[in-house]
Amino acid sequence: MNCFLHPHTPAIAQCVDCHQPICEVCTVRVNTRPYCEACAANHHQHSALTALIFGLLVPGLGQLYNGDYLKAVMIFFTGWLLLPWVYGIVDAVLVAQEIAEGRRDAQGIPPGYLILALKVGVVFFSCLYISLVWMVISAAIAWVASP
Ligand SMILES: [Zn+2]
Ligand SMILES: [Zn+2]
Repeated sequence: MNCFLHPHTPAIAQCVDCHQPICEVCTVRVNTRPYCEACAANHHQHSALTALIFGLLVPGLGQLYNGDYLKAVMIFFTGWLLLPWVYGIVDAVLVAQEIAEGRRDAQGIPPGYLILALKVGVVFFSCLYISLVWMVISAAIAWVASP
């Protein structure tokens, strides 16, 4: 079979999305899977480092990045207990590595523009989370201390 864009060049792979045969030049690998150039634009290269930074700054954000939405919510609400936060960081990095190596389906992960928005806003979200936790803790202390 020959490339659908270059009819005289043999195909080396098949696009994961549109299933068209693609040649060496047309093949773009995202998370080790082959895509044609047009379909590759809809995917982003996953990174364990991004997952680590997300996980460190906001509990559950690494899971959101990996598309583990239920886990993201659970870790977000329990992260202030610290142990779930630490677990979340390790989990985020391991899962992100699996996605980057193509060992895990990346179908459910958020679209590229959302991930970009998260990258831009991550420090803001981090401050927001910390002030939120601080507010809850100081309210609890005030409540306990009140006669
Ligand atoms: Zn394609
Ligand atoms: Zn081609």
